[in-house]
Amino acid sequence: MGNSPNLTTGPLAASIILTGAPGSGKGTQASILARRRSLPHLSTGDLFRSHIARGTELGRAAQRHIDAGHYVPDEVTNAMVRDHIERTAPDGRIILDGFPRTRAQVDFLDTLLTDVVVLNLVVEPAELLRRLEHRATVGGRSDDAAEVVRERLALYAVESEPVLAAYRDRGLLRDLDGAGELHAVARRIDEALATLPAASC
Ligand code: ADP
Repeated sequence: MGNSPNLTTGPLAASIILTGAPGSGKGTQASILARRRSLPHLSTGDLFRSHIARGTELGRAAQRHIDAGHYVPDEVTNAMVRDHIERTAPDGRIILDGFPRTRAQVDFLDTLLTDVVVLNLVVEPAELLRRLEHRATVGGRSDDAAEVVRERLALYAVESEPVLAAYRDRGLLRDLDGAGELHAVARRIDEALATLPAASC
């Protein structure tokens, strides 16, 4: 590791998808990675929340799904992602967090980006609950209420399987330990990227 190329600032051939359950820290890690690699970052959850805050038509279409802990329909989400990628990542390199989340979204993303690698942050369920409960006490998100959190975790457990399997079958996925301190997780991400040929060439 000590004499490996500078992975945090070196050239990056692929887009990076961060996946993980609600509370896994994918949003935080995606922000760190985007800053360090100077790449655009799309969090579909953040983008939906910004539309809701601005009262756009898209925000109105998304809100009831989000507040119930359900996914926004694929057609709505895919159109938003396509528009955002075309505007912010015309060269097809971006950090994605929260997308794709369904098998249909994987197929759609295949039509938009050619090279992707996937980092899956694995955190045990008790720790996820602890983190989400803490986030609920510091406030901010309407979907952090206890019953909605349960719904989001259950949905993730079902929907993530085919998404992860699709990328695992292609050899593009790494499972990473998402427990522990933020910088330790960031280091594991850098190490994993070094083992994914498309990301380190
Ligand atoms: P979490 O990591 O807790 O799921 P996010 O901020 O990533 O939080 O997402 C919040 C909500 O936004 C989701 O529960 C869902 O309703 C909606 N959402 C985000 N990304 C997608 C997506 N790719 N497809 C459908 N709905 C999405």
